[in-house]
Amino acid sequence: MPATILTEPPAHYRPDPAEGASTVEALPGESAITAAWLLGRVPATVLPWPLLRAGRAGRGPGPDIREAMALLPSGVLASGDVEVHRVATDFVRHGHAADPRYARLLLHLVWRDDRPAAERGGPVRLVGGGLAPTVALEDTLGSLARLDAVIVRGPSGRSEPCVDTHATRGEAETAAILRAEGHRRLAERAWRTQRLAAEVGWEAAWRTLLDRALVSSAGRRAEGAAARVTVADAVTAAVAAESGGNDLVRALAKTARAAGSRPAVLLAPVRRAGLGERRAREVGWNAMLPLVVALAAAYDDLGLARAAHALIEAWPAPPPYGRTQALAGLVRVTPRDALTAHGLLRMQELWCTRGGCGQCPLSPETAG
Ligand code: SF4
Repeated sequence: MPATILTEPPAHYRPDPAEGASTVEALPGESAITAAWLLGRVPATVLPWPLLRAGRAGRGPGPDIREAMALLPSGVLASGDVEVHRVATDFVRHGHAADPRYARLLLHLVWRDDRPAAERGGPVRLVGGGLAPTVALEDTLGSLARLDAVIVRGPSGRSEPCVDTHATRGEAETAAILRAEGHRRLAERAWRTQRLAAEVGWEAAWRTLLDRALVSSAGRRAEGAAARVTVADAVTAAVAAESGGNDLVRALAKTARAAGSRPAVLLAPVRRAGLGERRAREVGWNAMLPLVVALAAAYDDLGLARAAHALIEAWPAPPPYGRTQALAGLVRVTPRDALTAHGLLRMQELWCTRGGCGQCPLSPETAG
């Protein structure tokens, strides 16, 4: 069933009695517009250039979508961000016009262009003097029902093949496919970690993974770079202390072995360093587990590989990701563990944003 995409109107968009309530109700949530973009459902005809890559959902402060790629009319490949709003005037209202984090915008994607007639349809001005075109979906899609249908069925009106997967496979088999994709996503991360460690050493690889995990889990209260180094130092010292010394790698392996299938044991030193439960889990999944898996592979350590496997299988689900919300609704699976949640992310990254319908692991044509 299509997800409900109507949400509460923002405070600045209270009903004007003269306008009537229908104007207010006709605004979708930003998450629905973002889902349409990330699923590749925004019709190509409304874009000012061919889109080569939809990008990924932004995490933490900054644009909603990062690292999209387009082929500009000049023939130049351009990589940049996409900012999503319900109404175009939110760009200035939210302070983005003076914020350097929005200087690399490729596109300003809105439901409604509510700017004065002289500006309507024009670009937004960015810090540094650049311009980003504004595309208003309401002009093309017309109604929330149409946006809903586009998210679920695609611009052509055809249902995506995976819509039937719940009926044909059932939730357990669908979740198993997603968990397999989650395993692949983590294995790819571990493989990259092993390559990184071969180049810079295990401790430097750990610091790189940890810094990335801290950045991506910072949310709206992101520290500056200096404060993040302090947090990373505290986490590293707490993890290393588990072996009674300064050998971080030995300590991490030792803690992983002792954890069994209890992620809380692996995360205990991270929590002691002051991280909250949610952030600690992100650090565990994105930094500790890839390093443990890479260590086990690098040294043919079967015991450590088994320990990592038990932790991965038991790792709890993160809070729902906005970027996979629409796909989870299509296949009617609620992630109950991290593997399923990351399987949804991998499907999204590898198939949904690249026209993979009919060929992806959730399409009936490839079943069995
Ligand atoms: S690529 Fe696969 S999972 Fe994604 S929308 Fe198409 S059929 Fe569904």
